[in-house]
Amino acid sequence: MSKKELEKLGVMIGLEVHIQLTNLKTKLFCGCSSDYRGKPPNSLMCPVCLGLPGSLPSLNKKAVEYAIMTGLALNAKISHHTLFYRKNYYYPDMPKNFQISQYDKAGGIPISSGGEIVIEVKNKKKTHKKEITITRMQIEEDPGRLTYPGTIDTAAYTLVDYNRAGICLLEVVTEPVLSSPREARTFLQKLRSIMEHLGVDCSIEGAIRCDANISLMGGNRVEVKNISSFKDVERALSHEIWRQEQSIKFQHEIPQETRHWDEKRKMTISLRTKEEEHDYRYFPEPDLAPINITQEFIDQIKSNLPELPDERKIRLIKEYELPAYNAEVIVSSKKLADFYEECCKSYSNFKKVSDWVINSLLRRLNELNLDISEIKITSDDLIKLLNLIDEGTIHNKTAKYVLEKMIKTEKPPAIIIEEENLYRISDPKKIEKLVEKIFQEHPKAVQDALKHPKSVKFLVGQVMEISNHTADPRILNKIVEKRLQQLKKRI
Ligand code: ZN
Ligand code: MN
Repeated sequence: MSKKELEKLGVMIGLEVHIQLTNLKTKLFCGCSSDYRGKPPNSLMCPVCLGLPGSLPSLNKKAVEYAIMTGLALNAKISHHTLFYRKNYYYPDMPKNFQISQYDKAGGIPISSGGEIVIEVKNKKKTHKKEITITRMQIEEDPGRLTYPGTIDTAAYTLVDYNRAGICLLEVVTEPVLSSPREARTFLQKLRSIMEHLGVDCSIEGAIRCDANISLMGGNRVEVKNISSFKDVERALSHEIWRQEQSIKFQHEIPQETRHWDEKRKMTISLRTKEEEHDYRYFPEPDLAPINITQEFIDQIKSNLPELPDERKIRLIKEYELPAYNAEVIVSSKKLADFYEECCKSYSNFKKVSDWVINSLLRRLNELNLDISEIKITSDDLIKLLNLIDEGTIHNKTAKYVLEKMIKTEKPPAIIIEEENLYRISDPKKIEKLVEKIFQEHPKAVQDALKHPKSVKFLVGQVMEISNHTADPRILNKIVEKRLQQLKKRI
């Protein structure tokens, strides 16, 4: 859908992003290990995270520190006084029947309020800045993990794993100011990069999950839950916009409801009409004391904040003389930015490296839905590849192919070039032989080329093809021209 079409539909998207503080060793209110991935189900639990009678929660101080850090990074106002609330609901993912969370009404004060993230929005070929306003951020515990055999609406039973129950989450809520699925993805990317710069690894499965509120033409809000990967955010939102558009077209009412994003079938399905807030019976958590945060504590954390993506972008522009766009793309992932700066240590054409990182490496990774942390290419490998181009050993185009192979096979560039014999052919005799072969195979194209200079391209392309793109294009063009001239003389 184009930007114009989306504008016409009056799309308004607000996100609720749940970020796991994956750097914490224990859960939010107990000493259970937070390292739950790959562990046997229900092996990391204790009376506290199960909410057994008589057990009392105690707050993980590091969680509060990281929440303050995040709030500061989002330019938000940190609350000097904050407290926990119980959000009551009856659902098997929480053994206690309530979630310890925070609240912004009825006396509740979340850890921070306000703030913003600035993203770059592409409109046609121009990019401009857009400020995405954050409403609030709260600390809460993660529910357990439910697994539905088959699909959620047809499963005969549900499997429950409480290892995740009680893991520390930060919930970041935005104002409904995002106007396209692409913007939502860009926002999440930036948020993730900020978290990575703060030292929270968000690349592991399920570390960032999001719910989205979408409305069209000022109509009812529909909440889509269970979006667990970045690639799915765009898909889920696009699907939901399409679905609501159809309803409007046929003048069906869009009910306010909660829908579930079904990853397997790539569609949203209705779960339940949305709970009203009063259904949750929020009240202050009686087992946890309110928290007072002094200005000194906030200042101390502020003075220790690491470099954040926006600051890094400015530095990259200055230090490496990068165009603003390249710098923005590179800082959209901490690992990518680290990789880039590592490359620059041993290669002095900084702009060229950035183009390779963005246009070849990142593009390919996006196509394969891979994160840079999932591949084994080192900065050394990429620089070796660039050196091979500079030395004239391989073509630019061959290098792109080699990079793809490097991603796939994890072999260093020299080995791939050796194995597939991708060295550049600059021996005129060898190229002449290839030209000879193509001229014989395509007599009609040769006739065309004698009349229309444009048709010469086809012959050159064919030679390139059979040489595996290794023929030196300048020598090749000369030889083809020479042969055509000879043929013309004969006529
Ligand atoms: Zn526990
Ligand atoms: Mn939440």
